[in-house]
Amino acid sequence: MRPMDAEQLRECGHRMVDFIADYYKSIEAFPVLSQVQPGYLKELLPDSAPNRPDTLDALFDDIPQKIVPGVTHWQSPNYFAYYPSNSSTAGFLGEMLSAAFNIVGFSWITSPAATELEVIVLDWFAKMLKLPSQFLSSGKAAIIFFTLGGGVIQATASEAVLVVLLAARDRILKKQGKKSLEKLVVYASDQTHSALQKACQIAGIFPENFRVVKADCSNSYAVAPETVSEAISIDLSSGLIPFFICATVGTTSSSAVDPLHKLGKIAQAHGMWFHIDAAYAGSACICPEYRHHLDGVEEADSFNMNAHKWFLTNFDCSLLWVKDRSYLIEALSTTPEYLKNKASQENSVVDFKDWQIPLGRRFRSLKLWMVLRLYGVENLQSYIRKHIQLAKHFEQLVLSDSRFEVVTPRNFSLVCFRLLPPTFEDDNGRNLNYSLMETSNSSGKIFISHTVLSGKFVLRFVVGAPLTEERHVDAAWKLLQDEASKLFESLYIINAGAH
Ligand code: PLP
Repeated sequence: MRPMDAEQLRECGHRMVDFIADYYKSIEAFPVLSQVQPGYLKELLPDSAPNRPDTLDALFDDIPQKIVPGVTHWQSPNYFAYYPSNSSTAGFLGEMLSAAFNIVGFSWITSPAATELEVIVLDWFAKMLKLPSQFLSSGKAAIIFFTLGGGVIQATASEAVLVVLLAARDRILKKQGKKSLEKLVVYASDQTHSALQKACQIAGIFPENFRVVKADCSNSYAVAPETVSEAISIDLSSGLIPFFICATVGTTSSSAVDPLHKLGKIAQAHGMWFHIDAAYAGSACICPEYRHHLDGVEEADSFNMNAHKWFLTNFDCSLLWVKDRSYLIEALSTTPEYLKNKASQENSVVDFKDWQIPLGRRFRSLKLWMVLRLYGVENLQSYIRKHIQLAKHFEQLVLSDSRFEVVTPRNFSLVCFRLLPPTFEDDNGRNLNYSLMETSNSSGKIFISHTVLSGKFVLRFVVGAPLTEERHVDAAWKLLQDEASKLFESLYIINAGAH
């Protein structure tokens, strides 16, 4: 095969698209969770790369035989684990075109369309979410103050929180006129994603200054603002410097929504940076009936959501907006001689290299643009509503079987539930629910995941894969009920034998 030949690309590309279309057509036939054992691939592939080229036929033989068995099918309609990671035809087309141009769009001049399309689609998206105009590149604030805010595509929510933490850290250090990190304190709840902890490690925040506040289990595991206030007061009286609060809309374990407005006011009162992580649930907020979950976003310095989770945009596409880009740029900008150019020096353009960790960046806005154009806001809203409706349906099914309980109120498309343990079990249902998850997942028919809330081992059922229909939810529930019956049967036999 030649490095790039248009006719060869056409032929091979058609073959690959056919393979992919067939994959989606038959996706339900595969075990959702890959059933291979660790190291399986080493047995199947040679020890070193081929010296002479392989044929395309040989490659296409290997994909179904050697690769597909080791794939967990996130796009399967029977995938209900973690949070979703959506693909779509539009997202896929965007990925193809991005791969075709294969630009490295770090500065405006490296491909003006990449930067400008990103600015435009992030403004579109901010308007869909009804974010305050300070977050827009072309908002009112932009006109008055000459562009302070704006959006940028990061690869992941983890990178988004890292870059804003670095911006906030440098802002406070500059304000304090100090160089030392040892007094800086970050606040979040025990339900905040571990991405923040990693960001703190990278940013040099002292581990003892990462203040993890216990969420309120009587309020669906949202954090109580008073608890954050108290922690801040204690730290201030010890001479520490509170500088960053992270709130979550749709926590990873249970989809809790932190009280944005009150947390924002606390942050403001102490001159702290306020970041909102809405990685999963942000998508739901394009629907007017779920937008209230973002009330208080006007207090935030930065807001993030993953279009690659629940918004039909292929991984990776994490959207970050800031009210004042200058802090990001001050923390992250470098301009070596070899990157200098007229447009950048005249300050007339955005250079997204200064808003992120790496230098290089893909043309990711293409896929988001195609998703927005080819589906339209109304269809995207219906898509979200359908999943939430299916999750409600699943919740009702759980509630109708007295052997189970719904553990936390459902906010979006995640249902947290578990099997109630029989009285003679003394581990609070851990083994029982772990076994239910394991037997269900190893059947290959569904994939669900778990968490622990207040010491309870809880099963998580998330509706969010693009192809999921009611029949898949019903079949998943039937499987869970059947597996539960088998488990109870064996438990009672063992227990009867023990007496
Ligand atoms: N924040 C929340 C609330 C999440 O649920 C997740 C992942 O599920 C993340 C952050 C991390 O996302 P990413 O993989 O984009 O870093």
